[in-house]
Amino acid sequence: MADEFDLFVIGAGSGGVRASRLAAAAGAKVGLAEEIRVGGTCVLRGCVPKKLLVIGSHYHDDFQDAASYGWRQAEAPELDWPALIRAKNTELDRLHGVYRQLLDKAGVEMFDGRAVIAGPHTVRMGDRSFQARHILVAVGGWPTLPPVPGIEHAITSNEALDLPELPKRIGIVGSGYIAVEFAGIFAALGVTVTQIFRADKLLRGFDEEVRSFLGEEMAKKGVHLMAGRKVREIVKRADGALDLALDDGGSVIVDTVLYATGRAPNTKALGLEAAGVRLAENGAVIVDAYSQSSVPSIHAIGDVTDRINLTPVAIAEAHCLVDTLFRGTPRGLSYENVPSAVFSQPPVSVVGLSEEEARSNLGEIDIYAAKFRPLKHSITGRDERTLMKLVVKRSDQKVVGAHMVGADAPEIIQGLAIAITMGATKQDFDRTIGIHPTAAEEFVTLREKRGD
Ligand code: FAD
Repeated sequence: MADEFDLFVIGAGSGGVRASRLAAAAGAKVGLAEEIRVGGTCVLRGCVPKKLLVIGSHYHDDFQDAASYGWRQAEAPELDWPALIRAKNTELDRLHGVYRQLLDKAGVEMFDGRAVIAGPHTVRMGDRSFQARHILVAVGGWPTLPPVPGIEHAITSNEALDLPELPKRIGIVGSGYIAVEFAGIFAALGVTVTQIFRADKLLRGFDEEVRSFLGEEMAKKGVHLMAGRKVREIVKRADGALDLALDDGGSVIVDTVLYATGRAPNTKALGLEAAGVRLAENGAVIVDAYSQSSVPSIHAIGDVTDRINLTPVAIAEAHCLVDTLFRGTPRGLSYENVPSAVFSQPPVSVVGLSEEEARSNLGEIDIYAAKFRPLKHSITGRDERTLMKLVVKRSDQKVVGAHMVGADAPEIIQGLAIAITMGATKQDFDRTIGIHPTAAEEFVTLREKRGD
């Protein structure tokens, strides 16, 4: 029987949408199944709604700072939370529509509903089944909740983006980037935030100095950080409040508790194992450098492979896959120097190696760093500081890491990521003229090695 599709994609998120469009543009006949809504996690439950709430929440500080610059407000501005959520959802609806249109225009055949794999070349949706030369699993991930008594009272990032009312007190469990970002949003909106986590610092895996610095800045903004603690039980009280009983005997009373302690690949009951696809212990699809699974006709990209779980990575993997399958130019993605950001308040952004990674992998390194109060706050008096840090390999002077905590860090690091990807040396940074007055110019005027 002739194949119905050259490529059948399961999941219309960041990776699946891009792979479908590119494959169709390369002349492939493409089918795409989506069980919730086209757009996926990033557009509907992740990057975009989260960033809109970060922007929305920042006005609190902006209104306060404006007064220092002479702006008088007749009345103190107040937040209309439902209006913010409505505005965000209107934008998400618009983006969802744009994605559907783009897929339509590209000639991708779309199917609403859950798809499962029924064989190396077969996808089933209810009582329909499709044959495909290649199947792409781009089903992403979903938040997981630990088996803590009372966990049914907890919410995840999915619900946190759509709360009908703003709580007065929130407990946030976890220390990863999602936990940190929501702590920033709710604190800026005036919610009393307690962040509880097992580690001694936020953001495991980041540069140690960045981790400490961010913790200090967040504490200054009123986030109550409870490191080295675990929630033992969640008890709902008669008044509706939640009592978070901690392993050290303490407790925290909140109105809402948000767990951001992990995500798992969406591979349950997807038919992968039966088709012979090898999965990792956490359910991630094991793939080679070309995103091919252990079954040659089944491929996987994005969060379901649990490589680097970021949208631009899922999109880049989609490009590589389409080049490999439909353009005759097989290629895999380089996972070196993938820049990333945490939209905390203040934000963090990094590219390359942390000081600790560089020290253990490269041997001798030089560190250049600065901590300062940004110009804006010389007038507001706000006690907010910025950290900038370069990690340099001593032998060839290559800049192998750039780290920043402070306003606009993600915008600044994106540019530096190009230089670092190109192999820029410290001397290349030094001979670059700064743009004055900016915070970013600090990256090209750092001259003193730490310890000198
Ligand atoms: P997804 O975007 O998750 O898409 C998978 C799609 O598959 C979903 O639409 C799902 O409904 C569908 N699906 C699943 N199973 C089936 C099935 N059986 N049949 C049909 N459809 C199915 N990344 C960044 O780069 N920057 C950020 O700032 C950022 N912020 C984030 C904030 C939050 C709160 C979260 C949760 C994530 C964030 N991410 C961010 C990560 C980013 O969202 C993901 O890396 C990205 O969405 C992965 O894309 P994907 O294509 O692998 O999967």
